[in-house]
Amino acid sequence: MNIETKVKQTLKKIKVVVAPNLVGLGEGVPPNTKAGGKKGKILVALSGGKDSVVVAYLLKKFGYNIEGLYVDLCVGEHTKKCLEAVEKLCKELKIKLHVYNLKKEQGKTMKELWKKTKKIRLNNCAVCGVLKKWVLNREARKLKADKIATGHNLDDEAQTCLMNVFKGSINLSAGSGAITKNISDKKFIPRIKPLFYISENEIRKYALEKKLCFVEGKCPYAQDSYRIQVRKFVDGLLEKDKKNILKNFEVISKKQKTNEKINYCKICGEPSRNQICKRCELMNLKN
Ligand SMILES: [Zn+2]
Repeated sequence: MNIETKVKQTLKKIKVVVAPNLVGLGEGVPPNTKAGGKKGKILVALSGGKDSVVVAYLLKKFGYNIEGLYVDLCVGEHTKKCLEAVEKLCKELKIKLHVYNLKKEQGKTMKELWKKTKKIRLNNCAVCGVLKKWVLNREARKLKADKIATGHNLDDEAQTCLMNVFKGSINLSAGSGAITKNISDKKFIPRIKPLFYISENEIRKYALEKKLCFVEGKCPYAQDSYRIQVRKFVDGLLEKDKKNILKNFEVISKKQKTNEKINYCKICGEPSRNQICKRCELMNLKN
């Protein structure tokens, strides 16, 4: 089965179906950027890497009403290159692109934050993840998007599941899936992962085949030695085994029926598990 059929199946499984009157990038059909109007909008989190680029390309091709969001972390050459790639892709595919500049919007650069979080032994990737999630949810709500789509793939997800097993926090993974589960709140925009069942290799192959514009290589500031270790292990597994890891988590997830209680952060008002959200905790760290 090819990647397009697999992604369509995933979207069907999570009930993210396209309105029948929409026109995508079908063979010989010009992209209809007005398709669907404000109805059923999906905001694609674009990083400039192959995964999110493929998500945007496929959703557009299938006729979804999408817009892109690039969170500019402002950390030099790498983020500049990524922004250029995203701009080029959106221009080619006629996707409306929104750029969120972290320095402008929050008055802090990632590098400044990393300096502080190093003291509490948080790795760069964890800090970046918290910030991006916060920005995505807030911006998606502002832009009246119904869903947020990210580029997480089979390999990423298998790694995350195993890391949570090793850390003894299985519940964290039980809530994950091709669509966020166990959270229903009007301020929380559900996140979907159309590439949830697609391996990294297959995605790279497809991106190259379609000549999509993306930046190769990891972020130079990536710093999650634990994930790197787990990645090495997962890389050695068969695709079938990686899928089985996720399947097992889906079984656990189905048994978890209770919805998580959501609070609103006392500082920023965003949905949070605690009284103060993780983003505000990080932003307010003392030197
Ligand atoms: Zn907050």
